[in-house]
Amino acid sequence: MRQSQLFARTRWEDPTEETAKNAKLLIRAGLVHKEMAGVYAFLPLGLRVLRKIETVIREEMNAIGGQEVLMTTLQNPEIWHKTGRFDDAVVDNWFKTKLVSGGELGIANTHEEPITAMLVHHLKSYKDLPVYVYQFQTKFRNELRAKSGIMRGREFLMKDLYSFSRTEVEFHTFYEQCAAAYLRIFARVGLGDHTFRTLAAGGSFTTGLTDEFQTLSEAGEDIIYIDRSKHLAVNKEVLTDENLARLGLERANLEEAKSIEVGNIFPLGHRYSDALGLKYRDESGLDQPIYMGSYGIGLSRLLGTIVEVLADDGGIVWPASVAPFAVHLVALGSSEPVRQAADQIYADLSQAGVEALFDDRDLPAGEKLGDADLLGMPLRVIVSEKTLAAGKLEVKNRQTAEIRHLTFAELITEFK
Ligand code: ATP
Ligand code: MG
Repeated sequence: MRQSQLFARTRWEDPTEETAKNAKLLIRAGLVHKEMAGVYAFLPLGLRVLRKIETVIREEMNAIGGQEVLMTTLQNPEIWHKTGRFDDAVVDNWFKTKLVSGGELGIANTHEEPITAMLVHHLKSYKDLPVYVYQFQTKFRNELRAKSGIMRGREFLMKDLYSFSRTEVEFHTFYEQCAAAYLRIFARVGLGDHTFRTLAAGGSFTTGLTDEFQTLSEAGEDIIYIDRSKHLAVNKEVLTDENLARLGLERANLEEAKSIEVGNIFPLGHRYSDALGLKYRDESGLDQPIYMGSYGIGLSRLLGTIVEVLADDGGIVWPASVAPFAVHLVALGSSEPVRQAADQIYADLSQAGVEALFDDRDLPAGEKLGDADLLGMPLRVIVSEKTLAAGKLEVKNRQTAEIRHLTFAELITEFK
């Protein structure tokens, strides 16, 4: 992509009335647009990151047998009455709306009820199970406060998977597979060292315990107690001797930390399936309960967390796995030889299948380099009079600031 054609502008001033680092940087870099408090739009470069995160998650969900669907945003109150969760006293962050013809609809904040009700039409016998259904869907939650930028949206993108199993043992096996997939996802997007599986409470979903995935950050809204050597944690809300014993942790080895909840997985038992009439017929023709679990990751929150945790004083630092582009090709100076060489390198990069953002704008070098730091592509490649004379490209690693001088062929082998 040629930067001269990108409509989204970078800016140097922090946006007013935005306190969160993630939102300040994403707005300054032109990756998101703030529509209003807790509501953000994704611009071309931001959308590329979101799609890459989505791809990582999709690969991992497919690898454990997930089948992708797309459920609806408008929700039928009838099925939510069956579990008691349409009540504002039970779920306090509903957005609801009225039909012109009378009656009320819910606006999706989660999907346990509709997916379970939908599967009543598809699952009959023990032969149909287990089943794992997931989606990427916009969720709406009437959050009281929205001070964490895109990490706490009133509208946000979530991946939610729901598992349907014949027995508690079968459920548990999948639950652990999904927990392992989650750890792979967070590692692949660059947050592996920072993210801890964390024992937690179940909110409005279950009275039992759940597992959160918490990324260490001062910007977090949660307090957790971590055991670094075991790479495990306990949320403050469930910090008891009994729960520590359950995890084989000792209080003396725990460190208190602030963290961001990037994911949460929930054992649901058969509360939802029973309430919505979802059962299966076993080998001897008897009806049996279906054991469920639900598994969420906030994609937009994850994107914000990557910015929050990995950014430095110069701006955003994207891991290669989710960067909008692998390379930021920056032409310095507007002489004809530089222009032609940069054009050629841009064409050759795309020929070699390397995604590049090409800063072909006629702007002062300082401004272009500042933008490259702010935008945070993993590699910055400079073409200038100087590099032409040397016959090599100047390649800077955004994360380590290491500068190397490489031929084009050497650069390309980095991507092989
Ligand atoms: P929180 O405690 O932060 O309000 P939650 O526990 O209510 O979150 P879940 O219902 O567990 O959230 O949702 C699953 C995942 O969706 C969360 O782990 C988080 O990654 C994401 N998520 C939840 N609420 C928001 C939000 N308001 N904005 C962005 N992402 C969110
Ligand atoms: Mg949660």
